[in-house]
Amino acid sequence: MKTTTTLDRTTDQTLADLKARLAAVSDLYAVEGLLGWDQQTIMPPKGAAVRAEQLATVARLAHERFVDDEIGQWLEDLRPYEESLPADADDASLIRVARRDYEKIRRVPGELLAELVRAASQGFGVWVEAKDASDFERFRPSLERMLDLKRQYIACFEPAACAYDVLLDDYEPGMTTAEVRAVFGPLREALKPLVARVGERPDAVDDACFYGHFPAEEQRRFMLALLPKLGYDPEGMRLDTAPHPFASGIAPSDVRLTTRFDESYLATALFGTIHECGHGLYEAGIDPALGRGPLGNAVSLALHESQSRLWENVVGRGQAFWHFAFPLLREHFPTRFGSVAEETVFRAANRMRPSLIRVEADELTYPMHIILRFEIEQDLIDGRLAVADLPAAWNDKMRDYLGVEPPDDAHGVLQDVHWADGLIGYFPTYLLGSIIAVQVWERVRVEMPDVEEQFARGEFLSLRDWLREHLHRHGRKFTAKETIELVAGGPLDSAPFVRYITEKVETLYR
Ligand code: ZN
Repeated sequence: MKTTTTLDRTTDQTLADLKARLAAVSDLYAVEGLLGWDQQTIMPPKGAAVRAEQLATVARLAHERFVDDEIGQWLEDLRPYEESLPADADDASLIRVARRDYEKIRRVPGELLAELVRAASQGFGVWVEAKDASDFERFRPSLERMLDLKRQYIACFEPAACAYDVLLDDYEPGMTTAEVRAVFGPLREALKPLVARVGERPDAVDDACFYGHFPAEEQRRFMLALLPKLGYDPEGMRLDTAPHPFASGIAPSDVRLTTRFDESYLATALFGTIHECGHGLYEAGIDPALGRGPLGNAVSLALHESQSRLWENVVGRGQAFWHFAFPLLREHFPTRFGSVAEETVFRAANRMRPSLIRVEADELTYPMHIILRFEIEQDLIDGRLAVADLPAAWNDKMRDYLGVEPPDDAHGVLQDVHWADGLIGYFPTYLLGSIIAVQVWERVRVEMPDVEEQFARGEFLSLRDWLREHLHRHGRKFTAKETIELVAGGPLDSAPFVRYITEKVETLYR
């Protein structure tokens, strides 16, 4: 369908004003991201005090520039123009997405937002101490305060079917608690017997080959030899180290990856860097024509995570990948891998075992860690679970879902920073990412039947290009739900993940 619209001067000018303002806000967010990247990578320690002030100032400026009444007026004036365009026209998408963001942020009083930031910053300090002392009671008042603020935040919005919907929406726009439950519930039941099966044979797969001495510099050289095959662009990306690795897209043409080198355990950097590269490829693939502004970002955290997990797990732990990567690994670490077989490395990459710590969990047991948190968060928000009873509830679910017993709070309820940071509603996006990754993979294998033969030859760019075409380039033009349909070819569905992980368990734990 072709629609022609003649803009009168006023509409034209309004649109230009809106775009200029949104671009300026987006620039401020990019500067905030860059300051944050610097803080976690190369900033000298003494820079920390002043950096906190600088970050707060830039964040405040971005917020003020965006919540301005003028933007509301422009969005209102542009309504007829928006309605005259097809929904997927760039301008219509820009106006629609900007309006959603604007209306959402305007509902929350500035004082409450500031209080949430303060509570997160104080909560983080308390959480570090409580975790070091493995003492949940020390953290309890901070978490109670955070939950109280989150309930105030929820009250700023129209009542939803579940209070938790409001929190989820911050990370996975438009997704409801009921939709996530409908996917996670059956998944949990399908995984239970597999987890039990693997738990009965803890030594069936050996990952000893990843332990040894691996100098950080050699690990870095290895990663920089490997990543360009996956689409890492040295002219538009950087790789640095950070204590808690992340990827940050300053712009599609400027993507910062970070990693961590553990000199006695190779798997940390190996899979962690591929993971962050997957995030980075998404950021780099966003169509630059969407410009600086709300459309030029990834659509949701689950879709972002689907990319990191597709590359890390589905590709990077696959047999075809290792057929290509094993000789490269041997070349860089001849002493460790000189007498190790390719099959041994493939098996080691897929070792599964119920364990206590989420970030160390494998593909099979990881979902249980998330489902546990998702259920507990809802119980806390709805008041069905008192914070004082949280450690016991945590330990019960760990026994039930994973068959393991946390020896203390540090290895249990205090292990993650998220709740201290105010990131409640965030955890489900990790598992949604795993689920979507495998949905996408099933579709890729149908459309590119020789994709694994390509991997075995060290050719990964046709996968990168396919993902760019079906997902990356769209930015936030479509809703998260529409985008899942575009890239996965159907709605959210955990059946492909269950098929995939069952096959892996059967291969490795036969
Ligand atoms: Zn990730």
